[in-house]
Amino acid sequence: MRITGTTRLAGIMGWPVTHSRSPLLHGFWLDETCIDGAYLPLPVRPQHIEQALRALPILGFRGCNLTIPHKQSALSVVDRVEPMAGRIGAINTIVVEPDGSLEGRNTDAFGFRENLRETVPDWSPVAGPAVILGAGGAARAVVAALSDVGVAEIRIINRTLARAEAVADDLSTPKTRITVHSWDEVSAVQRHAGLLVNATSLGMAREPPLVLDLSLLPPSAPVVDIVYVPLETGLLAAGRRYGHPVVDGLGMLLHQGRPGFEAWFGAAVRVTGKLRASILATLAPAR
Ligand code: NAP
Repeated sequence: MRITGTTRLAGIMGWPVTHSRSPLLHGFWLDETCIDGAYLPLPVRPQHIEQALRALPILGFRGCNLTIPHKQSALSVVDRVEPMAGRIGAINTIVVEPDGSLEGRNTDAFGFRENLRETVPDWSPVAGPAVILGAGGAARAVVAALSDVGVAEIRIINRTLARAEAVADDLSTPKTRITVHSWDEVSAVQRHAGLLVNATSLGMAREPPLVLDLSLLPPSAPVVDIVYVPLETGLLAAGRRYGHPVVDGLGMLLHQGRPGFEAWFGAAVRVTGKLRASILATLAPAR
């Protein structure tokens, strides 16, 4: 990569930011498309997020991604929030508009939906209720994505019921009913379901495992884990044993980067096997 006076600039703000795979992801696409662009890690402390975001147009940046801990706090800084980001309550992508104003977007729902569409193209939103484990930031994006594609009933399981109830209050629509359940009901809610998604951090490396009885889940229902370290989680292994189509979390991570790349660098990009392999090689093995 060579930086010139006309190089288009974008990056990712986080604290810390060293763990982020986004510089590798966007660097891969920049190499592939031969665009004169650069994507930089930007370590920004929580107390400096407003100054850092306001500096983007001044420094000639086209925008940036946001990671922990900035995804919620940036909502009150940007000039406009895309409806999907407003519904989810978090921003992970900032686009600097030609007049220097900042638009906040959330591309996690897009990433989840595209990964599902690509991996299980035969899955239909009308196959049955979707069971979502978790009610954190990622779960909100998953629920918004499933509601948008026309799932009529979403059953949320979460340890902290109040958090799940807040998701139901914020994301229910006339076309999507959201119900809230405790972990005691995790087997019963799988009956007649058309999809099961883990959006908790259970099963992630160095977190407690996720042990589920899948015997009541209809065999045609895909089992999705958005955890991607390790790539093959205990849940996905169980899904395979029970004969379900399975969807891992790496595709969501890669697809969520596409809208930002397109907005900043002006080219559409794809998630290919070569990209998956190159990012996978950088993910720490499970311990
Ligand atoms: P978060 O906001 O902190 O939410 C964590 C969720 O996990 C909550 O629902 C929490 O329940 C639940 N949880 C954590 N520990 C638990 C335990 N011991 N027992 C039961 N439930 C537990 O995190 P997040 O941002 O939503 O991320 C969740 C996972 O998704 C992470 O593993 C993250 O890496 C992954 N993720 C993947 C992608 C992707 O692109 N593939 C994108 C975003 C996130 P409580 O509400 O009760 O605390």
